[in-house]
Amino acid sequence: MMALTATYLFLLGAVVGSFLNVCIHRLPRAESVVRPRSNCPSCGKTITVFHNIPLLSYLFLRGRCGACGWRIPARYPLVEFTTAVLFAGGYLRFMADPRFAVFLPFVAICVALFVIDAEHQLLPDLLTLPGCAIGLLLSPWNPLVGPGGALLGAFVGASLSAGLILVYWWVRKRQGMGWGDVKMLAMIGAFLGWDFTLLTIVLGSFLGIAWWGLQEMRGKGRGLQHVLPFGSFLALGSIACLLFGQPILIWYRSLLLGSVAGGLAVLP
Ligand SMILES: [Zn+2]
Repeated sequence: MMALTATYLFLLGAVVGSFLNVCIHRLPRAESVVRPRSNCPSCGKTITVFHNIPLLSYLFLRGRCGACGWRIPARYPLVEFTTAVLFAGGYLRFMADPRFAVFLPFVAICVALFVIDAEHQLLPDLLTLPGCAIGLLLSPWNPLVGPGGALLGAFVGASLSAGLILVYWWVRKRQGMGWGDVKMLAMIGAFLGWDFTLLTIVLGSFLGIAWWGLQEMRGKGRGLQHVLPFGSFLALGSIACLLFGQPILIWYRSLLLGSVAGGLAVLP
């Protein structure tokens, strides 16, 4: 029974991932995600239902558009596969816990935001603002927050990141994060509450610094001017928080306490 449900959620995730691919392609270009039906971004030919089957159609078409031979980017099957794995994995993690119902829409939006920010350094309002609304609407059934906690989380996420932008602007006379990050953090706050939102910012910053370091080591970096897709790292951090937030929070607190204790120990 468990394996059957996990398989079903894997397939559901692949279908959702297929729709996310449409959003990822069209939202940054300000195109409708509903009309026209799925078509090839290169020749514009409508892809038949058979070709709309996620994952399998990519294998069947051997990664090329049936009409014009356009090479379908690996991102398409990757997004479908990742969403499928997250849906099935989330079920195995949460089972009948109500957190699972909150997890599904959140993860779907985060996958789309991750790719769009990585490709375009953009977090579309059409994802973050409805995401924020969904987080608030689901909050009565969300054991992580509740309605008050969701509002507080959204407020903390938005005001903290807006504050960081203003301080950075004041000190460096240019913009650090974007306003898209502010709306995304409001959404994360509405879903996860204020404590996991702070943890998400910490995790996202660690990931961003690690990524920046890797780019520098490979000689591809552009110093601190390098544009980091911070939204992508926030997406990763928030999904990690939702899946393993409690253990991460306990580990992080012990790390902080450990470093404070260590700092006190070396004081004369
Ligand atoms: Zn084509």
